[in-house]
Amino acid sequence: NREVDNATSEGLLAMAREGEIGTVVPSYTGLDAYRAAGGYRLLDKVRAGEITPDALMETMQAAGLRGLGGAGFPAGRKWSIVRSFQGPRLMTINGDEGEPGTFKDRVYLENDPHRTLEGALIAAHAVEAQRIYFYMRDEYPGVLHILRTEIAALEKAGIAAPGFIELRRGAGAYICGEESAMLESIEGKRGLPRNRPPYIAEVGLFGLPTLNHNVETLWWVRDIVENGAEWFAARGKPGHPGVRSWSVSGRVKEPGVKLAPAGVTVRELIEEYCGGMADGHEFKAYLPGGASGGILPASLGDVPLDFGGELAKLGAFVGSHAIVVFSQADSARDVALNLLKFFKHESCGQCTPCREGTGKMAALLQQPAPLDETAIRDLESVMRDASICGLGQAAPNPVNHLLTYFRDDL
Ligand code: SF4
Repeated sequence: NREVDNATSEGLLAMAREGEIGTVVPSYTGLDAYRAAGGYRLLDKVRAGEITPDALMETMQAAGLRGLGGAGFPAGRKWSIVRSFQGPRLMTINGDEGEPGTFKDRVYLENDPHRTLEGALIAAHAVEAQRIYFYMRDEYPGVLHILRTEIAALEKAGIAAPGFIELRRGAGAYICGEESAMLESIEGKRGLPRNRPPYIAEVGLFGLPTLNHNVETLWWVRDIVENGAEWFAARGKPGHPGVRSWSVSGRVKEPGVKLAPAGVTVRELIEEYCGGMADGHEFKAYLPGGASGGILPASLGDVPLDFGGELAKLGAFVGSHAIVVFSQADSARDVALNLLKFFKHESCGQCTPCREGTGKMAALLQQPAPLDETAIRDLESVMRDASICGLGQAAPNPVNHLLTYFRDDL
């Protein structure tokens, strides 16, 4: 384009480094349009003291808003825990969205980035964070462009002080979506998960108490405060407060991000939100939580999907709400092997059970029948018990389910 034609070679290089060349930027709600529709008025009220941090935390708690990056920790409680530690405090936004099958945060940031940014500024005010680090995956160049542009617009409009929101680019490592590895990455080190305790709420980024949130969690803050906790909580199924964004992909007619209640079942997602199974495909199995949440058979397609509960009893979890649907055309063994290879590739390698276990398990799955199930189960227990972080602890989930529910596929 003309801009590129007229650039100097140095300029071209800089643009390429910043992801400005070949970047498709979708049309989105910019600052002016967002403000014209009432945006940032809530932040003004919060900053003016019309809504106190305690009231904000109570509202988040009553709404049942949970961390939607995967861990599901109650947001209001997290704010009060971070506030309980002596300042200065920091805040981070985890935009790494690397869990396979997850794409909801991208959709939000490519359409309405200020809703997340306003939520972040409100949360930062509530915990008195001195700075926000927004960690964004480099695989989303359009989002990076939008954030660069809109953070600058916020500074120009005097809504955020210059440098208050600092954008950091990830470099493609899945493990940097794990919160403590993300902090290491922001600090300029290798993205290696930390041992806990201490938790990052107490000793986080640069050793300071840190509030970390996923993009979608913050996206809901404004709506919840403006419409009330009950408005949000009542949108879930009984016993499962809140509404969630489900990234649904695989053998369905209409994949995409679906807004559906917490506690929805996969069968409901397929039938009521995705137009049914794709032509010629019958529902056979599904991943309830991306690569890490396990693989369940269609016979367990009526389990309410939410953090903990029935899903946890099955050794599965909903994580970042990435649902991948499989049919009779797919082999559960192939799926499990694919996931194991992914974990092997993405293991940071700092602890032996995960570094060695993922590879050994993948190798065992590739051996001709009969599978050495004793060796697989041994590896599984060592990885679960002795891995530092969730990657190694959850990596055996699909294999456990393969041996439990999909014996025909062995
Ligand atoms: Fe790294 Fe795996 Fe250990 Fe996590 S479990 S710290 S990814 S080696």
